Amino acid sequence: MNPTINADRLWQSIMDIAEIGPTPEGGSRRLALTAEDAAARTLFLRWCQALGLHHQQDAIGNMFLHRTGIDMATPAVAFGSHLDTVPTGGRFDGVAGVLAGLGVIRTLDDAGIRTRAPLELVNWMNEEGSRFRPAMMGSRVAAGELPLDVALAMTDDDGVSVAQALADSGQAGSLTPAPRDWSAWLELHIEQGPVMEATGADIGIVVGTMHARYFQLAITGEPSHVGPTEMNRRHDSLAAAAEVILAVERIGLTAEPFGRASASWIENIPNARGNVPHITRLHCDVRHNSADEAVAMEASLRRALSDIARRRGVRIDVDPYATFGPIVFDTKLGALLRGKAAGRQLSTRDMIAAAGHDSVLMAPLVPSAMLFVPSVAGITHNPKEYSTKEQIARGTQVLLDAVLELAGTGAGP
Ligand SMILES: [Zn+2]
Repeated sequence: MNPTINADRLWQSIMDIAEIGPTPEGGSRRLALTAEDAAARTLFLRWCQALGLHHQQDAIGNMFLHRTGIDMATPAVAFGSHLDTVPTGGRFDGVAGVLAGLGVIRTLDDAGIRTRAPLELVNWMNEEGSRFRPAMMGSRVAAGELPLDVALAMTDDDGVSVAQALADSGQAGSLTPAPRDWSAWLELHIEQGPVMEATGADIGIVVGTMHARYFQLAITGEPSHVGPTEMNRRHDSLAAAAEVILAVERIGLTAEPFGRASASWIENIPNARGNVPHITRLHCDVRHNSADEAVAMEASLRRALSDIARRRGVRIDVDPYATFGPIVFDTKLGALLRGKAAGRQLSTRDMIAAAGHDSVLMAPLVPSAMLFVPSVAGITHNPKEYSTKEQIARGTQVLLDAVLELAGTGAGP
């Protein structure tokens, strides 16, 4: 019988990390490469070093914690997630997956088990993309989907580059980002939706993801004075943006239940009380289970933009800077997770992930799979985000059982 995850210890570690960058409402705010993110990384590293894990870090700030195996020539079994959060972060998104991985290794240590294949626990840099776009930046660079120099030059809203933030936070590692020598990649994550709770599933087997398309929009009008300029002479970029935001929402509403569309970020220039705004930048995305439908959603968005631009005499530039998915995760690994859940008398449900995850970047490189644990009421990116101690422990147990089967415990080949 495999050893049992220590649910209390795992929970305590999640609560300890949550106290770094605490928000008044009980959530966490640790945007990538801020002092708070660095502090969480330091605490995580301290825990890993107490287990004797070998630490390597790459130039985009991804952390790799290596546990040697009996057979050093065998590729590692890898797992993890991310410690960074959105500004209104909860305590579980990403953190649960990293610390579940830590819980797996602690449990193996307690039981005195050395696996045949090495194990590697990962904290990916800037999964959320709240401070620097694009999201899943660390895994994207490691996967070769985004050149390192392009990522390093990206800036936050204050003009601080990723390179500068890496240097300031002491998180620039010496490794060149590259795919690692792994036989499998597994990620435990909270569901971030209401389906598992509603259907009573203990473990979500993520069989694939939606296809998402991300856009940065720049709306350019004419600067003028709010008093003297007659309404019909204005080229107001903010008013145009308001129409764009509603168009994005309409496209999302039309695409339900399999699609979503969101406008989530805005910058308005000069953002001065006496000025008709003349430059407004928006961030938006469209996503759908079907890639064709997501492309069709983009086409509707572009039609809406040309219509708004024409009617209002503004220019709208579209920068379609990133996409992800649709990913189909490894079916053998999915079956393994399903079997391990059944072995623990846990119910499963196959799921499609609507959010982006680092696993999306790993899937083309290495057999990859994700498992979800339920999110209470489906609340996420919110201080009220919650999964119970038992829910997380169940998922971590399935992760441990799967890792043990993949890594093996025999004495050499
Ligand atoms: Zn996440």
